[in-house]
Amino acid sequence: MELDPRPNLDSVATIRDDGSRRFVYMADVRGSFTRMREVSALVLIAVYLLLPWIPVRGYPAVFLDIASRRFHLFGLTLAVQDAWLLFFLITGLGFSLFFVTALLGRIWCGWACPQTIFLDHVFRRIERWIEGDAVQRRLLAGAPWTAGKAAKRVLKHSLYIAASAIITHLFLAYFVSIPHVWAMMRAAPGANWSVFLFIAVATGILYFNFAWFREQLCIVICPYGRLQSALVDDHTLIIGYDAGRGEPRTTFAEARRHADGAVTTGEGGSARGDCIACSRCVQVCPTGIDIRDGLQLECIGCAACIDACDEVMTRLRRPRGLIRYDSLSGFSGRRTRWLRPRTALYGILLLAGAGVATWALSTVRPESLGVTRMTGAPYFVDSDSVRNQFFIRIVNKRPEPARFVLRLEQAPAGLRQTGLTDAIDIPPLGEIVEPLILQVVRSAYQGPFIVRILLQPGTGGPAMERRVEFLGPDVRLLREEEEERRTQNGTLIR
Ligand code: SF4
Ligand code: SF4
Repeated sequence: MELDPRPNLDSVATIRDDGSRRFVYMADVRGSFTRMREVSALVLIAVYLLLPWIPVRGYPAVFLDIASRRFHLFGLTLAVQDAWLLFFLITGLGFSLFFVTALLGRIWCGWACPQTIFLDHVFRRIERWIEGDAVQRRLLAGAPWTAGKAAKRVLKHSLYIAASAIITHLFLAYFVSIPHVWAMMRAAPGANWSVFLFIAVATGILYFNFAWFREQLCIVICPYGRLQSALVDDHTLIIGYDAGRGEPRTTFAEARRHADGAVTTGEGGSARGDCIACSRCVQVCPTGIDIRDGLQLECIGCAACIDACDEVMTRLRRPRGLIRYDSLSGFSGRRTRWLRPRTALYGILLLAGAGVATWALSTVRPESLGVTRMTGAPYFVDSDSVRNQFFIRIVNKRPEPARFVLRLEQAPAGLRQTGLTDAIDIPPLGEIVEPLILQVVRSAYQGPFIVRILLQPGTGGPAMERRVEFLGPDVRLLREEEEERRTQNGTLIR
């Protein structure tokens, strides 16, 4: 890659002053962090690819069935009525990111973000396999167009498009299941126009991102990346360069003379530091920055520069860790404080949220009962009775049929129920919406009262309960009206 100095840290390393892109040809690197990242990436890619295939209680482990408004998560089925649990999911993710970032910096970006994982472990591998290492890739990019270059580019971009399409189809499988995706793939595009367009557009976006946009997504678009500076402090673990040990920089030849024992150097008090200005840390950086310039927004915490520098230090027989995981405090020779107000606050919020979310999940039932008053007047009064009308929605979230019985409790004598008086059978993942009409004879109506509506599953288990208020007219007016009617009837009879 181009090693021309960055004019200032307020500019982006991969964008020139004239606004053109400085494309990064990152060099290969080996080392313990690279190996660990490969293992973690393979595990995460496998999880992403396999989740829609692994059945749990008859459904994929993660299946967000939007069409049926059911969400299957590792055997737990949630209906749209349970959407309030999303609150805990979103806030939990937020607090987790806050907590982890305050402690460990951009560990998510470098080790677990799908952007980094797919780019590093799928698309860059394809690129390296076809076009060679960083030097070969840069030479190829600058070479005139020949049949060989065209063939390599066509092959590379064809594989990019294929990989983007596979990722998109698997993403779709989280929403419509693998057999359904397979059926749609075999059908003509016209049979599922909207899905076909979604796949085409999403594949195009992924291809654009992984083929060209790459690190710009982390630098320019990702809101989490922009939030970093507000979440980290001097005690947050970051990847940094130990300037106290590395500066002033020396040369490779001088460093080798020191390593061979001709000169005493390094931390032992020499005027020269341990950095030999070889630029390996810059060459392997996927965002094209020089970590020696200090903590920068573009650093995604991939640890490639640690492995690169450790390799150099090992060859020079110097201690590893000139670039390492440490806090700004640690780099300046002070102690790193893990427990501090912000980590304590984020930790407490995270624990409280996790506790409430666990309780909320434990309350999720395999059926749901909803009671809503019919629109229009809240009650009706006719010659005989006072009437309230409701809609009852019962959802069976089980993958098998279920029978329910609806009954009323705490209801006054004389309350009549019309609708849902027999056992209710609901198919697997089905729901019913039926009217329920409650009536009280006028003379028995003594004012508003509470009715407990209980839904008893046929399989046993506790009943679900909803309380509704039975409404009616002012009792005094009702009695006066009745009195008037009686008087009128008496007059008519006489
Ligand atoms: S890899 Fe290490 S020695 Fe080489 S320039 Fe970077 S910090 Fe200096
Ligand atoms: S500075 Fe180091 S850790 Fe940060 S993105 Fe570059 S190579 Fe990765």
